[in-house]
Parts: sequence; C-alpha cells; structure tokens
Amino acid sequence: MLIKATRLSKQGFDVLVVDSNVRYGGMWRSRVIKGIEIDQACHNFESFPNAYKVLEKYSGVKFVNRVPQPRRIHINNPLRSYYPIQKIIYALFKVCFLFIQRIFTVFLRLRCLNRNRDLHIWEEIAYLKLLFFRITFGRKIKHPSGGCVAFIGGLIENTKASGVKFASDKVLSIDNYHNGKLSLKFSSKNEVVFDKVYCSASVICWLSLVNQIATDMKNPSYIIQFYGLYEVVGIIAPQSVYIAYENNPVLRRLTVMDSDSAKKYFVEKRKILVSVHFADNIRSKTDRERIIQNELCAQHLINIAETVTELSYMSPSYYTDGKYSFLQASDSTRNFKVVDTIGGVAEALFKEENPNGFYLVGSFNDLLW
Ligand SMILES: Cc1cc2nc3c(=O)[nH]c(=O)nc-3n(C[C@H](O)[C@H](O)[C@H](O)COP(=O)(O)OP(=O)(O)OC[C@H]3O[C@@H](n4cnc5c(N)ncnc54)[C@H](O)[C@@H]3O)c2cc1C
Repeated sequence: MLIKATRLSKQGFDVLVVDSNVRYGGMWRSRVIKGIEIDQACHNFESFPNAYKVLEKYSGVKFVNRVPQPRRIHINNPLRSYYPIQKIIYALFKVCFLFIQRIFTVFLRLRCLNRNRDLHIWEEIAYLKLLFFRITFGRKIKHPSGGCVAFIGGLIENTKASGVKFASDKVLSIDNYHNGKLSLKFSSKNEVVFDKVYCSASVICWLSLVNQIATDMKNPSYIIQFYGLYEVVGIIAPQSVYIAYENNPVLRRLTVMDSDSAKKYFVEKRKILVSVHFADNIRSKTDRERIIQNELCAQHLINIAETVTELSYMSPSYYTDGKYSFLQASDSTRNFKVVDTIGGVAEALFKEENPNGFYLVGSFNDLLW
C-alpha cells in the first residue's frame, strides 16, 4: 500500500495514508521489545525476475542473497530446497491434464466440463513459467541488508519524501457521498470526503462498508494466524534464517530476527530472538516453549539445555479473497484484491512501469495461487 501511495503522489495526487496503528508499515511494521527493534512476523521475499530491483528502488535498501537460503521442511521427508523440482513436475502434470481435458471437452462437446477452462490453463501456465524461473535463474532468494526492519523503515521514509502524508486514526466506515466520492468516518470523530480510497487486506477485516459500496464482496474469509516470539541463548549470531514447514500440524514458519538491533543484542547478551508462525493455536505457553526448544535444537541454532522464553504470543488476522486489488482499481472500493506476496506486487508493478520488459506475471490474477 505504501508503494501505491508513493506512485499516486508522484502522479500528482494529494495522498493521505491512514493507519489505526501508530507504527506504520502494516504487517511489515517493526516492533520494539526490550529496546530491540525487530519484525513482528516471519517474512520472506519470494523470487520474481524483477521484484528485488523494484523493492530496492522504493525502499532505497540493497537486497542481497539470503545467507543461509530459506529452507522448506516437509514433515515426511528430510530437508527440501525452498523451490523444489517436485513443484514444477506437479505443475507440468496439471497443465497437461487441463490441456487433455480441454481437447476432450471440445471433441465431445461436453459443455458441463467446460467452465473457466481457459482461465485455468493460462493461470497454470503462468505459474509453471514462474516455477521454471525459480528452479533455474531465480533460485537465489534475496533479503534486504539490515533485514525487513531496514526495508520497511526505508520504504516509509521514501513514501514520506515523495509527499505522502500520514495519519494515525481508525477508519470506522466508508460511505457513498456523491459524484462518486466517498465519505470516511474516523474514530477521532472526523469525517472526511475523498475522491478515491484504497484499502488493504487487513482493513477489510475491521471495516464497515455501508450502502453496499463493495457489492462485489462475496464470501470473505478471515485468516487468523498464531505468532510467538521467543528469546534464547543462541549458538551462532543472528542470520536471516527462514524455514517453511510443509504439512506440519504444529509449525508453519520460523525466522531468526536479523535486524541491526537484534545483532547488537546478540553481541551484548549472546541471545537470539526467534519468531514462530504456528499452524494452529497451541494453548499452553509451556507446550509452545517446549516445541520451539526442540525445533531450535533440531536446526542447530541452540544447545539442548538452553531455556526458551516466550516474549509474546499474538494472533493477527487478515482477509482473503482473490478478487479485489488496490493496485488495479478504477474504483478501488469495488476492487480489492489480496495480493499474496510483496514479491508478486513488485513484479506486477514492474510490468506496469515497463510494459515491454521481460516479466513473469501476466496479470494480477496470475499471482493468486
Ligand atoms: C503475518 C503475515 C506475514 C506475512 N508475511 C509475508 C511474507 O513473508 N512475504 C510476503 O511477500 N508477504 C507476506 N504477507 C503478506 C503481506 O504482508 C501483505 O500482502 C502486505 O502486508 C499487504 O500490505 P498492505 O500495505 O496492503 O496491508 P497491511 O500490511 O495489511 O497493512 C494494513 C494496515 O491497515 C491498518 N488498518 C486495519 N484496519 C484499519 C482501519 N479500520 N482503519 C485504519 N487502519 C486500519 C492496519 O493497522 C495495518 O497497519 C504476510 C501477511 C501476514 C498477515
């Protein structure tokens, strides 16, 4: 959303970013615990041909290869690379299957099997191309120097420098005004009319859209996530460790906090901070700490004897529905789309800025899997 705000401001619009949180940056905002500035969740910038260039441009922060590279751990198998060849084989089979299905349906004129066929095939082909890129040229995943804290800090600074104004307030409702304008009511009791409003995924969780403005919104689904932050004496200095777990009933992601502030803390106390995305709500704090202790030992990040202390446990939620985009919009309140990854947004932005360039995202629809 901050990138969108920067772009609008550069196009000459008067832009105001409103956030109910006093710390800006949305899901990527940093937080301060024990005087250490760290990420509030596990983050990774997926690999797209142009995404890192775009993100560098908007944040002013250099992206370098992640060391170590992110890992993907399958519950039934040992370690897998983050972009395993199995994924491309599976996608290839899927495309072949869809083509064969298409040939059959045309041949036999089975209209009942015909629905959305072209869309599916083209989306799968776009995904296949992206996977091919990822297991060949795009295998190396990059990360901002100074971690995500430096990235989001740079992005906020650059957004402000481009003339965007910021306000900390909560939007309570969006209502039709007239002449296509929209009226926003804030918790500060202010009511302001805007020409256009762009909302992000998490805003839609909490907003009331009155007078049927968002007529397209069907079956919204909220995803609630469970995040814990842990402190423990580490064996090695904080690196940008990122582990994704597949089919694991307990864990989804694990990262070691790697901001400059976290590195300084390690030098002083020999302790690392670890962010964990749980697959479900583990109710007992003792259970959560035990799970994390075992996992950190298994990953050789701590000694078995070290006590893991939970610093926080929270459940951020966000909205998912593939239909609505804040970047595409002519009337954005009718057109929300949750774009799954920052890398995907950046790649789509590259396409917008370089229509004749080489990119692997055909349209925003291609991003949604
Ligand atoms: C926990 C988590 C981890 C993620 N990790 C990754 C990742 O590693 N890599 C990746 O590419 N993508 C990741 N994503 C997805 C990515 O974060 C989102 O696509 C991205 O944050 C969208 O940015 P945004 O600015 O549109 O909205 P958001 O980041 O959702 O920010 C919206 C802001 O709106 C504010 N807000 C909400 N309601 C109101 C209201 N009524 N009034 C005023 N303000 C309000 C919130 O406080 C929030 O700050 C993650 C998402 C989540 C939830």
